[in-house]
Amino acid sequence: MTRPVNVAILGATGSIGQQTLDVIDRNPARLRLFGLTEGRRSAKRMAEYVIQGQAGEPDFDSRVREMVTDPRCDIVAVAIPGARALAPTLAALEAGKEVALATKEVLVMAGDLVMEAAGAGRAQGALPERMGIRPIDSEHSAIWQCLWGEDWANIRRLVITASGGPFWAHPDLDLDQVTVEEALNHPRWSMGPKVTIDSATLMNKGLEMIEAHHLFGVPLAQVSVIIHPQSAVHSLVEFVDGSLKAQIGVPDMRLPIAVALGYPDRLAGAVPPTVLEDLGPLEFYPLDEARFPAVRLARGAAQAGKGRPAVLNAANEEAVNAFLAREIPFTGIIRTVEAALQAFPGGGTTLEEILAADRWAREFVRINSAGTLR
Ligand code: MG
Repeated sequence: MTRPVNVAILGATGSIGQQTLDVIDRNPARLRLFGLTEGRRSAKRMAEYVIQGQAGEPDFDSRVREMVTDPRCDIVAVAIPGARALAPTLAALEAGKEVALATKEVLVMAGDLVMEAAGAGRAQGALPERMGIRPIDSEHSAIWQCLWGEDWANIRRLVITASGGPFWAHPDLDLDQVTVEEALNHPRWSMGPKVTIDSATLMNKGLEMIEAHHLFGVPLAQVSVIIHPQSAVHSLVEFVDGSLKAQIGVPDMRLPIAVALGYPDRLAGAVPPTVLEDLGPLEFYPLDEARFPAVRLARGAAQAGKGRPAVLNAANEEAVNAFLAREIPFTGIIRTVEAALQAFPGGGTTLEEILAADRWAREFVRINSAGTLR
């Protein structure tokens, strides 16, 4: 491409959004900031679109739609959290844009709809790695990189690595008693409070398993989670011949962002090189699903489908908020999600039904977390 690639960022004020701006700034010959959305803070950015406000405001939503479907826009980086990312992601994919996706909820809630939209915008006979969606989640970026040049029919298993969070290495700890401060103390990655708590419950891995299942078109039974406390191996792919490919790097989100924006090229100097001698021993352990039932719960929800993954995601988000507000104990998070899944009447195929399932789950948790789920 002779001109720089035009990148629009949905959610420029968050951590991923800021790091995406950083990657663009460091690669001016390759990447150009085409537009961005943010909260109320002043952008002071040169771009075709600088959209301030919140999703749900009619003017904001129509401007976002205009930006992500603009013929000059090449890549849409989606970094706004939660269900609000769904409609603009679908609009971008339907317009044939490449989407660099950081918001895992988009695939967890509506994986079938989103992958259908991604497929509809692609040319026939495209390379298998051209999915329309370029993952920014580090595990999925790792798997994607392991798959470049491979025939996807040769995948035996995707292996998602988990640091295990702050509690995994302390099997004698009573998880009913752990505090918000202890749960927020993640050993490896510095992240926002929601994803840090999800790492401690391992729900983050449950959501990532569903994300991988949709993104790579692999059955849930062929996606597994393994504990790897050093977080150096970001994930792996096992092939039918017994070969195992891993992607290794420093834990820095600018790498998956640079991979997503630079594809099929690599952007030089995106992160400091990995010094293998400094990594020390790399350990791998099986996931204890009895102590950390989130992955099992997520697999069941995804297998049942029909709105349940949306309920899992929304109930978890509300339960994490209740825990952070000190309304429920740490173990109450997963109990809450399980109760919501059991009570859910079912239904959720269209976008409207999926959003209704999301609202139902939030309402369920708000009503119940005050009483029975303590
Ligand atoms: Mg991740």
